[in-house]
Amino acid sequence: MKLIFLGPPGAGKGTQAARIEAAYDIPQLSTGDMLRAAVAAGTEIGKQAKDIMARGDLVPDDVVVGIISERIEAADCANGFILDGFPRNLSQARALDGVLVEKGIDLDAVIELAVDPEILIARILKRAQESAQDSAQGPRDDDTEEALHHRLRVYEEQTAPVADFYAEKGILRTLDGMQEMDEVTQQIRSALEVI
Ligand code: ADP
Repeated sequence: MKLIFLGPPGAGKGTQAARIEAAYDIPQLSTGDMLRAAVAAGTEIGKQAKDIMARGDLVPDDVVVGIISERIEAADCANGFILDGFPRNLSQARALDGVLVEKGIDLDAVIELAVDPEILIARILKRAQESAQDSAQGPRDDDTEEALHHRLRVYEEQTAPVADFYAEKGILRTLDGMQEMDEVTQQIRSALEVI
């Protein structure tokens, strides 16, 4: 099963992707997690991404396309994968198309979690507070109120059009991300069952 999870910051994409990962035995590939790991490790990519991410802007397309293109070749992707946080603009979506054609891979579905932007701000600020109390992890650099508003704007302007791109291909499934977590998981599983 080759899937993309689409949705604004705070939509619960990461949580749902982790559940589907376990249920279908396919890895969740989060470009945000990979970039944060690169920042923490101080790699070249990490150095390039650090300030961009803290502002809530997008890191350059070639960086994330390169990361994903290599990652989906790994042995654990033999059954498929869940792309979480990628593609995030039309140019990444087109580049991904090229990569998939080259590798002979077909996407099965794009799951979009639709949510109310007002709720998102509250959810993320709560998450930021919780992780600030968790000394092991600490707060994310981009969970400040200012960066959050910027991330939501970037989503509206650059990522929302990606949904239309996949709708035209007939593989977009838009679900209500405002329901209880378990209910959303159930909706996703029902959508995947008919694929
Ligand atoms: P969220 O969904 O909460 O915004 P992510 O963990 O997906 O968080 O991403 C955090 C940050 O990492 C983004 O704001 C951006 O700076 C960077 N990033 C992640 N994925 C991409 C991508 N596909 N293209 C460009 N930048 C990305």
